Amino acid sequence: MKYILQELIDIEQFQSLQDKLNEIYSFPSAIIDNEGNILTATAWQDVCTKFHRVHPESEKECRISDQYIVDHINEAHPAVSYKCPHGLVDNATPIIIDGIHYGNFFTGQFFLEPPDLDFFKAQAGKYGFDEKEYLVAIRKVPVWTNEQLTSYLFFIKGLIEVISGIGLKSLKEKETRESLKKSEALYHDLVETAQDLIWQCDSEGRYTYLNPAWEEVFGYTVEEMLGKKFTDFQTPEWAERDLQEFARLMHGNTVKGLETVHIAKDGREINLIFNAKYARDINGQVIGTNGTAFNVTGYRKTQKALSESEVQYRLLINSMAEGVVLHEVIYDNRHMAIDYRIVDSNPSFERETGIKASMAKNQLGSKLYGAAEAPFLDIYAKVAETGNPTHFETYFSPLEKHFDVSVFSHKRGWFATIFTDITERKRAEIQLQKSNEVIQAQNEEFQQLNEELSQMNDALILSKEKAEESDRLKSAFLANMSHEIRTPLNSIIGFSELLAIEDTEKEEVIRYSSIIHSSGNRLLELINLLIDISKIESGTDPVRYSPVRPAGIMHEVADGFRLMASEKCVKMLLSVPPEIQDFSFQSDSLKIHQVLSNLVSNALKFNPGGTVEMGMNLHPEGILFYVRDLGIGIPADKLSKVFDRFYQVESDHLPRSQGAGLGLSLCKSMVELLGGRIWVKCKVGKGSTFSFILTNFK
Ligand code: ADP
Repeated sequence: MKYILQELIDIEQFQSLQDKLNEIYSFPSAIIDNEGNILTATAWQDVCTKFHRVHPESEKECRISDQYIVDHINEAHPAVSYKCPHGLVDNATPIIIDGIHYGNFFTGQFFLEPPDLDFFKAQAGKYGFDEKEYLVAIRKVPVWTNEQLTSYLFFIKGLIEVISGIGLKSLKEKETRESLKKSEALYHDLVETAQDLIWQCDSEGRYTYLNPAWEEVFGYTVEEMLGKKFTDFQTPEWAERDLQEFARLMHGNTVKGLETVHIAKDGREINLIFNAKYARDINGQVIGTNGTAFNVTGYRKTQKALSESEVQYRLLINSMAEGVVLHEVIYDNRHMAIDYRIVDSNPSFERETGIKASMAKNQLGSKLYGAAEAPFLDIYAKVAETGNPTHFETYFSPLEKHFDVSVFSHKRGWFATIFTDITERKRAEIQLQKSNEVIQAQNEEFQQLNEELSQMNDALILSKEKAEESDRLKSAFLANMSHEIRTPLNSIIGFSELLAIEDTEKEEVIRYSSIIHSSGNRLLELINLLIDISKIESGTDPVRYSPVRPAGIMHEVADGFRLMASEKCVKMLLSVPPEIQDFSFQSDSLKIHQVLSNLVSNALKFNPGGTVEMGMNLHPEGILFYVRDLGIGIPADKLSKVFDRFYQVESDHLPRSQGAGLGLSLCKSMVELLGGRIWVKCKVGKGSTFSFILTNFK
């Protein structure tokens, strides 16, 4: 039910109407809606309200009456009447408006014939009512005739229906007005917010209404466009065509889907599709046109671009040397790829595979290539799903060809393949690989040979160097030896011959034998040096470690040369700091003794008269020994050579000294063997200082 009774009837007004009627006719009445709400009530009788509906037993009887009325309300004409067990009559008239039952108009609690007082006295007795008061209430109950009742009921029913009918009408009018307002607002909103262009023109084609969407499309404000003709926004060509269409409209025709071109404020072309209809005034006179237009500029542009790119695509794939095929993946209902369909292919594909484009189109991969293609389906499906391109090489046995295949996807569920016939390249590669392997093997062999050769070469170079070295040594040795040995030998032979001559004076014999003696000594000394050097070089004279007290060795050496020194008038000095007098270490005392002896011997030899000082000191690197003389010294450019074998400083004003140039060389070898180094500092004419440091001792 759309309405309730209170909305249709002014309840207050009706209540006062009922009250007034009651004053005239003494007629209890009430309006009760279908939910049982008492909307109006007038003149309820005391006999009911104070007696029958108060006592529980008598109230049960009242309810029987109520129920009867409810059960029979559909049969009402105009009312349903019921005489209650207490003898009062009740009536109900259904209130039906516009075919809808809204509630009931009740009237009753009256008698249709004068009451039987004896009956009511008995009732008072039965329910224990105060008889006097009960009878007073009974006498107040109006007594109506049937005719009165019927005409009253028809009157009241008509009245209710008229009043509520008016209420319904005004309600409906109100609703219509509201819905009109709503639909007007809706229409306004729709038109004002519509993306499509909505317009009205007068009979001359001047815009009289434009919705705001025009501003966005044209760039003009609506105000700028209103009052202007539609042809003002067109090129003359389009204006001419559209004026003809406009004339048709004005003759009462309609236009549907008319595509035309307008010009926007910034000069852009706008593609519009018009649907238009003439507009009439209330007299049926055509006064203009109205309709809608759709902006299809973007769509047309895209269409143009698409058709251009379609042409470009075709050109591109047709001119490609590689076979190009476009495919669509076919999925089952669980979205599992089960096959694919060839959508497009190019002439190169046809040339390479022999499959005609018309044959390939719409074919399933499984049919076209057979089972050989099945393993690739997963690869294709993955590319079509992820868009990540892939690349592989494959041998297609039916064609006996090798292909290089690139797979990529431009759209989900689609993929394209680019085939390149690489059969020739593959063959060449296999050939190349084979020859490469051969070359590799040869190379390895060659490398091995090379290594062996280079090892042999190294060995050869080494032995050559050794041979050269020993050759050089040998020649140097022979040259020196022949000279050194020959000189004393000549003396020995010569003087021994002289000794054999009979008339030799005794004095001469003494001189000759002295020469023989000294030559013999020189030979012995030379041979000893050679033996020492060769022992060191051959490693047969190793360091023999024993406790060494250097101060003691120096005293021994000094003692050994004391005689020679005094003969040469040379002062021998010994310089050992007192704190290291007893210092000792583990080394080879014989070798230290020999080095010091050689140095002192030289110091005396090249010292015409002066001082020779032999000393030692502790040095940060080890133990320092030195032999200093104030002799002839050695020229600076010769210093580096004096430790070479057989080297002797020669000078015009110096007599060639006796010796073989081996002493210092032996000293150097020995010092190095003992773990040290030896050097000399000199000043010509002012003497020499030979020093050595032993760093490696225990
Ligand atoms: P030799 O003394 O037998 O000639 P050495 O090897 O001992 O051989 O010495 C090489 C050369 O160094 C000597 O011939 C000499 O010219 C020079 N020389 C060695 N010691 C001294 C020194 N104290 N003063 C000057 N010259 C020296």
